[in-house]
Amino acid sequence: MNKIIRKTLSVFLSILMFASCWSFVTPLDAAAEEQGPGCEHNDYATNEVAATCHSEGYIIYVCRQCEAAVRVKKEDATNNHNWEKISEEKSLSCLAYNIGTYRCINEGCIEVKTEPMKDGDGNIVYGPHDVITIGGKDATCTEDGYTEYTRCLNCGKTTHSQKIPSPGHIDKNHNGNCDVCNFVTNPAIGKCDCFCHSKSAFERFLFDFANFFWKIFKVQKDCGCGVSHW
Ligand SMILES: [Zn+2]
Ligand SMILES: [Zn+2]
Ligand SMILES: [Zn+2]
Ligand SMILES: [Zn+2]
Ligand SMILES: [Zn+2]
Ligand SMILES: [Zn+2]
Repeated sequence: MNKIIRKTLSVFLSILMFASCWSFVTPLDAAAEEQGPGCEHNDYATNEVAATCHSEGYIIYVCRQCEAAVRVKKEDATNNHNWEKISEEKSLSCLAYNIGTYRCINEGCIEVKTEPMKDGDGNIVYGPHDVITIGGKDATCTEDGYTEYTRCLNCGKTTHSQKIPSPGHIDKNHNGNCDVCNFVTNPAIGKCDCFCHSKSAFERFLFDFANFFWKIFKVQKDCGCGVSHW
């Protein structure tokens, strides 16, 4: 008699659950087949386990009557690993980058990854250049020069050298020849016998003295060779 009441109650509860649309196809239906028709798994406990970085989330249904259990996947592993750097392999060449090895420090996770190291700006860090210095060249009266620069023997990267502009011929003493390279800057001056072209410091001093007065009295403005005295 007692058994019939329980059975009736069980069926009644089943109909009630069905009517309220509450999970009328339970995950334990599959288990029911295996267990045989003896238990209808109307009363079960659930145990929900959240997904982690490395394991899927799931719910375990356990029938309180027959203890049949079914595990149902709920979500994929999050893949949200918690990386910690464990080593860094420095590249010896500018052609290869530094490699960092990381492991996930979340409990139970054994994920390890290697990836290029990056600097604060997010740029991949490469090894050092193998640099040689290439000497510069001084400017001459007729050609520009350049400052020294460096070039990497591995990747060919060069630093910029600065151009040194040519100053042109310089004839400070107005003797018609370049002071630096002796180039004849003014053939007419070479033939001029005015002491303004003299290489003698004393004669140059005399010229400066005379020129001071020439300037005041506005005479001897032009030399015989055509250059200006003042
Ligand atoms: Zn059961
Ligand atoms: Zn992980
Ligand atoms: Zn390089
Ligand atoms: Zn010169
Ligand atoms: Zn002169
Ligand atoms: Zn002259």
